[in-house]
Amino acid sequence: MIVESRELRMKHRIPVVKTERFWKGLEEGKVFKTVCKCGKSYYPPRAECVCGATTEWAEVSGEGIVECFTVVHSIPAGYEWSKPYRIVIASFGDVRVMGWSNEELKVGDRVTLYTAKDESGVWKVWFKKV
Ligand SMILES: [Zn+2]
Repeated sequence: MIVESRELRMKHRIPVVKTERFWKGLEEGKVFKTVCKCGKSYYPPRAECVCGATTEWAEVSGEGIVECFTVVHSIPAGYEWSKPYRIVIASFGDVRVMGWSNEELKVGDRVTLYTAKDESGVWKVWFKKV
């Protein structure tokens, strides 16, 4: 049975002034977290810490460890260009970063991160095995 459907596209306008450094960083090949003088770190970045202080930007770098991942075989509408893809969470010291990968990965693998546009032109965080 074929169910008739129609495409629904939605656009949202969200303020980015407090997170602009993060988005610009992706275009520069950098992934940023925020850190507070109280010792807490945030990824995704937060402008304000739970202690009430303003956080500062710091680059996420070095090697991370794959904590978990999922392979998406049911490609959502709008991502038809995509092959089955992996969404990965890896720990980089004091933060966990979510990103994408085109490689076979397993929990515990060491990875580095980089940024690149996907086929739809959106900048994303990607992982590759060390
Ligand atoms: Zn704090």
